[in-house]
Amino acid sequence: STPVSVVSGLASAARRGILIKGGTYLETARLIKAVALDKTGTLTEGKPKLVEARAWGGADDAGAWQSLAKSLAARSDHPVSRAIAAGLDVAPAEVDAFKALVGRGVEGVVAGRRLVLGNHRLIKERQQATAALDAELEAHEAQGRTVTLLADEAGVRALFAVADTLKPGSVKAVAQLARMGVTAVMLTGDNPTTAQAVAREAGIADARGGLLPQDKLGAIGEMQKRYGLTAMTGDGINDAPALAQADIGFAMGAAGTDIAVETADVVIMNDNLGRIAETIALSRRTHAILW
Ligand code: ADP
Ligand code: MG
Repeated sequence: STPVSVVSGLASAARRGILIKGGTYLETARLIKAVALDKTGTLTEGKPKLVEARAWGGADDAGAWQSLAKSLAARSDHPVSRAIAAGLDVAPAEVDAFKALVGRGVEGVVAGRRLVLGNHRLIKERQQATAALDAELEAHEAQGRTVTLLADEAGVRALFAVADTLKPGSVKAVAQLARMGVTAVMLTGDNPTTAQAVAREAGIADARGGLLPQDKLGAIGEMQKRYGLTAMTGDGINDAPALAQADIGFAMGAAGTDIAVETADVVIMNDNLGRIAETIALSRRTHAILW
């Protein structure tokens, strides 16, 4: 049977908006050695804003590229595409053969032109990157911005930089974990340079970027070998495999996707990252009462 102090621990966690799906997670949280944190929507607000939009590579008639980009972006729910669509004050056109490219961007045919709207990785794969483009992206990424490119068959036509901000509690939450002897690691599908810049701001030394969902899962496995009991914190569909692999998965309850909330062992109702350290502290207190 479940000890009384575990029951009261679960109840006291629930009162603070920490929903723990079973006594064993409360009992083992005290042993967490490392926490993996998703970047977008977990450490950051997850509501990036378009901060720069410019033509590239001698793009054609002024503004046409804006409409093409908006047409593609408006078809996607990804936060980066949403930021681009919201930031461009032009009318979108119809898109044919629309397709999402996991971890890369989107593609489609607009006004008879086959286009992609996506990240540096996608442009490199299409062999459309140039030294000038690489340098331009590096400058944005070093400031923690995420750059998306619009390209047709001839090359890159426009560049869109979006910026997301850390949640107000992220720096404090990471510092609390460090004080408790828990190592924080950032995992993200965003590019490594942007990941490093945002991690530095959050006080995280170890940031891994360019990860597809299965890579996030692999990163959890590595952390388990290296550190021991490892937790994962995420909000997205792309975090679900890693949440399942982690010893304890924490999902953001308010902004999190259904699949993240269902897969997680602990749901943080108000998305406050400080709740991770609180859960560990509560687990340590509960254990001290029991033994
Ligand atoms: P994350 O949510 O951690 O950023 P994703 O795998 O969703 O990871 O995306 C990785 C990167 O791929 C994004 O940072 C973005 O640059 C690009 N990307 C993926 N999907 C889209 C999309 N629909 N629109 C624009 N960019 C996208
Ligand atoms: Mg996310």
